[in-house]
Amino acid sequence: MRLSQYFLPTLKETPSEAQIASHRLMLRAGMINQTAGGIYTWLPLGELVLKRIDQIVAEEQDRIGCHRITMPTIQPAHLWQESGRYEDYGKEMLRIKDRHDREMLYGPTHEEVVTDVVRQYVNSYRQLPLCLYQIHWKFRDEIRPRFGIMRGREFYMKDAYSFDIDAASARTSYEKMYNAYLRTFARLGIKAVPMRADSGAIGGDLSHEFHVVADTGESAIYYDKIFETITEDDYSMEKLAKFYAVSDEKHDPATCPIGPDQLISRRGIEVGHIFYFGTKYSRSMNLKVTGADGKPIYPEMGSYGIGVSRLVGAIIESSHDEHGIIWPEQVAPFRIGLIDAKNDAQTQTVSNQLHEKFSNSGVSVLYDDRSERAGIKFSDMDLIGLPWQVIVGSKTLTNGTVEVKNRRTGERQDLSLDEVIAKFL
Ligand code: ATP
Ligand code: MG
Repeated sequence: MRLSQYFLPTLKETPSEAQIASHRLMLRAGMINQTAGGIYTWLPLGELVLKRIDQIVAEEQDRIGCHRITMPTIQPAHLWQESGRYEDYGKEMLRIKDRHDREMLYGPTHEEVVTDVVRQYVNSYRQLPLCLYQIHWKFRDEIRPRFGIMRGREFYMKDAYSFDIDAASARTSYEKMYNAYLRTFARLGIKAVPMRADSGAIGGDLSHEFHVVADTGESAIYYDKIFETITEDDYSMEKLAKFYAVSDEKHDPATCPIGPDQLISRRGIEVGHIFYFGTKYSRSMNLKVTGADGKPIYPEMGSYGIGVSRLVGAIIESSHDEHGIIWPEQVAPFRIGLIDAKNDAQTQTVSNQLHEKFSNSGVSVLYDDRSERAGIKFSDMDLIGLPWQVIVGSKTLTNGTVEVKNRRTGERQDLSLDEVIAKFL
C-alpha cells in the first residue's frame, strides 16, 4: 500500500480529551474518529487491526467446535419481556420504536435472540452440545463512556453461547472456553489473568473475568504471584483455576487465602468474561429438548464474551513507548513500513522495487512514498508502530544496502536488497 494513496490521517498534536495512552495513540495514529460520545468510526488502519483480532478470536472459537453466526443488532422487545430482563436492564439499553410503534432495542447482549433461534430447531438431546458465537456490534448506553473505544457505547464483541444437556457437560463446555481464552490472548501477544468472578457457592453460577494487567485499567485486581510465571504448558483451567485471582469487590484482605508476599495487587482491563448460568434462559424462554429417557430437559447454558474493540486499546496499553504504538506481529495492520528517506531518483527506484516485490509475495507493507522530510516519515512510522521498518536512504544505498529497524527493540541492521527480501518472504 502506498501511503500517498492511503487514508491515514495522523495527528501531530496530542488530543486534549484523551486521558490514556491507547486513546491518544489511536487518535494520533489515525485509527479512529469520534462520531459522538462513545461512538467511533474505525478508519482504515484501525479497521485492519480490528479485523486481525476478529480473525484470531474466531479461529480459536472454531477450534473448540463453536459455529459462527451473525445475529441482528436490532432486537424486538418481546424476547426480553419473555426472559424477564426488559425492565431490569435499565438505561444501558437503547430502546427504540419502529414505524409501527413496535418496541425494539439495540442489542446490548444476545442471550434472548440465540435462545429463540435454538428453541426453533433443537428438540433432542442428540443435537447437543451446541455452541454458537458471533463477532458483532453491541450498544450499551454507558453512563460514562471514556478512554476512547475502551469503554465505548457502541463496541465490537465476540459473544458465544453454549447449550448442554446437563451440568457436567456444561462445565466441560465452560472449561473448553476458558482454555480457548488463554490461547486467544496469548496469540494476540498479551497476558490476560483469569479471575474468579462468581460467588464460589457449589452448584451455583461459575464465572471468570480475564484481565490484562495495565496501570490504566479500570479495576483493581489481586492475584497469586504464580500467574506472573505461567507458560503455555499451564494454559488450562485445571492448572490455573485453583490459584487466587479476583477483582476489587471480591477481594477481602481479611479472608484472602494467600499471604502478602505471594499476593500481587495491580490494575486490570477486563477483556473477557465467561459465565455459566444454568437454565435461566432455557426455562424462562421455554427451550426444551427431549432427553435420552424421553423426558423433557431444559438445556444448561453459558455465555462467553470477549471485548474485541476494547482489546485494540488493551494491546496498545501493554505495548507502546514514548514514540507510539508497538504492534505485536500477529495483530499488526501491516508487517513492514517501507520508508523512502530521500525521495531521489535512486531511492525511489529501489523503494518501488521492494514495494512491488513484497506486495506481489503477499507480505503486507505500507510504503511511505510521500514527498515529506525523512524526519516526518520516521516519526509517523514509529507512531503507527508497524513491527519492521525498511529504510531506503542514499547513504547506505552507496554500499548497496538498506536499513532494517525492529520497532520493538530499536535494533538496526544493514542488509543487501537480496537479504532484505529473503528476511521477509
Ligand atoms: P464492564 O464491567 O467492563 O462494563 P461487562 O461485565 O459489562 O464489562 P460483559 O457484559 O461481560 O461486560 O461483556 C463482555 C466483554 O465486552 C467485556 O469483558 C469487555 O471486554 C467488553 N465490554 C463490555 N462493555 C464494553 C464497553 N462499554 N466498551 C467496550 N467493551 C466493552
Ligand atoms: Mg458493563
